[in-house]
Amino acid sequence: MADASVTAQAQDGAEYRAEDACAAELLCDRHPGSAIAFRVVEPDLTVRELTFGELAASSRRVAAVLAGRGVGRGDAVGVLMGKSAELPAVLLGIWRLGAVHVPLFTAFAPPAVELRLDGSGARVVVADADQVAKLQPGSGAAADRQVIQVGGERPSQPGHDRLADLLATVPDDPAVEPARVGADGRLILLFTSGTTGTPKAVPVPVRALASMERYLLDALDLRADDVYWNAADPGWAYGLYYALVGPLALGYTSLLLHAGFSPALTWEVLQRFAVTNYAAAPTIYRALRGEPPRSGAALRLRCASSAGEPLTPEVVSWSGDALGVQVRDHYGQTELGMVAGNAWRSELRAPVEPGSMGHALPGWSCAVLADDADEVAPAGTVGRLAIDTHHSPLMWFPGYADAPERTAERFTADGRWYLTGDTANQQDDGRLFFSSRDDDVIIMAGYRIGPFDVESVLTSHEAVVEAAVIGVPDELRGEVLEAFVVLRQDAEPAAGLERELQQLVKDQFAAHAYPRRVHVVAALPKTPSGKIQRFRLREAGVDAASR
Ligand code: ATP
Ligand code: MG
Repeated sequence: MADASVTAQAQDGAEYRAEDACAAELLCDRHPGSAIAFRVVEPDLTVRELTFGELAASSRRVAAVLAGRGVGRGDAVGVLMGKSAELPAVLLGIWRLGAVHVPLFTAFAPPAVELRLDGSGARVVVADADQVAKLQPGSGAAADRQVIQVGGERPSQPGHDRLADLLATVPDDPAVEPARVGADGRLILLFTSGTTGTPKAVPVPVRALASMERYLLDALDLRADDVYWNAADPGWAYGLYYALVGPLALGYTSLLLHAGFSPALTWEVLQRFAVTNYAAAPTIYRALRGEPPRSGAALRLRCASSAGEPLTPEVVSWSGDALGVQVRDHYGQTELGMVAGNAWRSELRAPVEPGSMGHALPGWSCAVLADDADEVAPAGTVGRLAIDTHHSPLMWFPGYADAPERTAERFTADGRWYLTGDTANQQDDGRLFFSSRDDDVIIMAGYRIGPFDVESVLTSHEAVVEAAVIGVPDELRGEVLEAFVVLRQDAEPAAGLERELQQLVKDQFAAHAYPRRVHVVAALPKTPSGKIQRFRLREAGVDAASR
């Protein structure tokens, strides 16, 4: 638990903007050594508690090992690890040296790992033993890539060593000063999810910690006595910023589940550990809805939050009874962190309007710009969702790494507005309603249709678990809608289903926006983090994707 002075200091975030800011100090050394940073839960539900004191000592030794491999300030280090007890020590070891953490998601196939290692120039990779086979020999500047393996048998390949063996060779020297990289120093180089194309490399500076902390306090209403579990994977922004880094900045305890996702295990962890504050992506809530808990043990949830994709209404209506709290939707990006949401903190909490992702969070100013001019659109009109950089003190995005053109696309010509690449509308009272990603908007006979509105209706049908809607070319109308649906495991594709779903959309959304065809598919194309990739459905051609 953080003491009051640390928390008070954190409220204003000045320590993250300091020229001599030191990540290891801010994320670890300043907290009481006896406070618990992580509760790591193994699949058999045994727990290992990690205190800040233990993390300080273990990360100092990791830093010594990495320094011995030539890692220094500004150097990228790839990390291909699950949510184990070793993970936080490795990350803090990297930051202690002023080096840069490059997250690699454990579900990646070798090409996705390579893209990130190549793109970051990482010459050292720390990888779980069961992940090492994914690492190809480096090329060019990274030809001498070194692999530090966590766990497993002692490796025989040249350039591969086992972390435990290396740690045994270095002493813990508390006198070694951690690097002070300053507010603009890089902590992380994180690639976006690749929902709309090739992932973009986002450098996350130390100053971004201020916004991570604010999201936890304002939107999640995180308190020192919460049992907090953010189930998102730290290979992605929501998991990395808010399950690992943000809680470290605050000095609060965060639960890590050292296992892949399964609904049964999730229910067990929620029950057994009496989780009070839970956060996860919509796809996780949808899976929980599809597979109710085996035991009736009570839940203790005070807050449940969702981010990363539109939160479909059936999850919201299910959650009140099933979780004891209604899931609240929050919005953000790798490039920004979380910027809007239906906040939980009592001073900010407003009734949720169905379909709304809430208000801009403190420290951020969000607006919807007209399609044809860089001006704020009239309330209620769909346009480009943007951040007013002149009035967003928590904004930290420094531009994509080595990609000035892609960075330029993100800003209006005068530099004032950051363009999220999403469309939305904003009511007079500031509430935001997500419409779609720019690329996914369907324009039919002059009407703009966001796929999410139609998908929400489709998933409200009892046989449908997930749905994706795209526009396909049509001579007369420009585009018409086609839908792809995944049925519940026990549902048989009935003959009249297409008609039923079309009628449902006509009755509950709009007569013109019904899908001309409904394809029943076994699965939807998704990013490794579970986001629906509509561009793949468009590319594949509708016929190829239907069964
Ligand atoms: P890429 O930029 O590589 O195509 P991505 O945009 O999915 O991938 P992320 O930064 O992980 O990469 O995701 C941010 C995007 O996720 C947002 O721009 C938005 O499209 C979507 N998103 C996040 N939260 C929400 C939400 N609450 N409602 C709707 N969409 C959301
Ligand atoms: Mg994006």
